[in-house]
Amino acid sequence: MYDFKGGKILYEINDWMDGRDVVIHLPKKVLKLDGVSREIAFRSEKPMKDFKIVQNVYLKGELIETWEFGHVGFVIPHTMNTWETVVLADKGHVELIEWLQYDEDTDYLHRREICLTLDGDIFVRYRVFESISHASKELTGKRPIKIDIGPVYSIRPDQRLKDADGFRPIERELVFDIDATDFDIVRTCCSKTDMCPRCFRFMTTAAKILEYGLKNYFGFNHLLFVFSGRRGIHCWVCDEAARKLSDRERQSIAGFFNICSDSSASGLSGPKLRAATQHHQVTYSDPIQICTFGGLLWPLFRDYVGVEQGWLLSSHDIAMVGAELSRQAEEDEIEVKSRKKHKEEEEEEQYHAYNYSMFSKESHLSHFLAVLNAPSLSAVLNDADDWKKRISILEGKLRAGSPEECESIFKAIYHFTYPRIDIGVSAHRNHLLKAPFCIHPKTGKVCVPMMPKTFDTFDFESVPQIHRLIGGNQEDIDGFEAYVKQFQKEFLDSFPKKDEDEDE
Ligand SMILES: [Zn+2]
Repeated sequence: MYDFKGGKILYEINDWMDGRDVVIHLPKKVLKLDGVSREIAFRSEKPMKDFKIVQNVYLKGELIETWEFGHVGFVIPHTMNTWETVVLADKGHVELIEWLQYDEDTDYLHRREICLTLDGDIFVRYRVFESISHASKELTGKRPIKIDIGPVYSIRPDQRLKDADGFRPIERELVFDIDATDFDIVRTCCSKTDMCPRCFRFMTTAAKILEYGLKNYFGFNHLLFVFSGRRGIHCWVCDEAARKLSDRERQSIAGFFNICSDSSASGLSGPKLRAATQHHQVTYSDPIQICTFGGLLWPLFRDYVGVEQGWLLSSHDIAMVGAELSRQAEEDEIEVKSRKKHKEEEEEEQYHAYNYSMFSKESHLSHFLAVLNAPSLSAVLNDADDWKKRISILEGKLRAGSPEECESIFKAIYHFTYPRIDIGVSAHRNHLLKAPFCIHPKTGKVCVPMMPKTFDTFDFESVPQIHRLIGGNQEDIDGFEAYVKQFQKEFLDSFPKKDEDEDE
């Protein structure tokens, strides 16, 4: 067998005697080739009738395909016969299957739910992709408008009725959904399904927060961020340990990130905010980095919230924010009191220390407002320079102010910049999430992966679009291919390959 391109020999055997099975182990890298050419040369001393060649293809021990090369019929004695077949890879779905297979048995892939949405919003749930070619058949045959990826179940989802009681989700990537509509309380440029480059900054900051937190506090390494096609970003945590998390554990991790919990009321949970800060005290000495999630929130607040989003422009706005923060402070106190009631004595003591100096008094709030309303500054913020003056005062307070001042300022920063995350998506293993490279039905944009190093430069407006791809727009075609390559190189290839050079 040769590599179709370049002719490199992948295997060669010369002692194939009759009546004996020859087992060929192909290296795993064969799956990444564009095609292979296989030549069989044979001769017979005697005339042969009804001669045929059957090829069985196994993947990890399981028969996935049988090819029968017809009947030769009669083989003339003492002649050399050669037979060449070229097998071209169906490159379209190799990456998707390679991802969902991980380094597991084929069975793992077969227990994974694939949900296809057909034209007319018909959901076809509990489908299975058995192999690359099977996925190809499913997709070209059914032509779904969307593919959702579900959990890996205890048994094949398409055979769940055989053991309805034992059918349950076992594994699944830990997923996060960041959606611009959850930021409506803080973005002023757009609302609902609209999005512009200005409010997309909230999305990329959210992605940075997840990347930072998941890597540094939870030790996860294999994160896949995907642009959702219109106004959001999905995050897939694909480490083996993440896939094996129970629902409770998922809720805990999602809870860690859920500091601004209720998007509609902008509920800022005091205890969680405090906990997040304590985490950063271990890593940083700069108060701004400690107080703004490793410094990630600060640039968004400093450079964009004031002037670009138009927040805190006038004393009226400041009073509005003040009222909101004050309402939250009251809620925090109620939460603290009610939680204390239910705590054991020992835990209560710990909890009390934990909440010490929470932003829970009116006086704390006044620090923040006093900074923004300093008499030396104009009552109405007229331009970027006015905002910069306020920022430099805030910065000075964060570096050298009293704990109360810092507390109140960073609480305001969290309010305006911290991601709002839809916890429901992360909490359960059986949640379906759109596969990367789907097409968003409304925008026609491809849901392309977003590599962390491109968060700041990612231009969601210029991602490839379906009508341009079909129309043969070279820029979009090249762009699409680049995203597929990036997905392979920077995501799939990042997984440790236990048996890279071994035969499979
Ligand atoms: Zn916007």
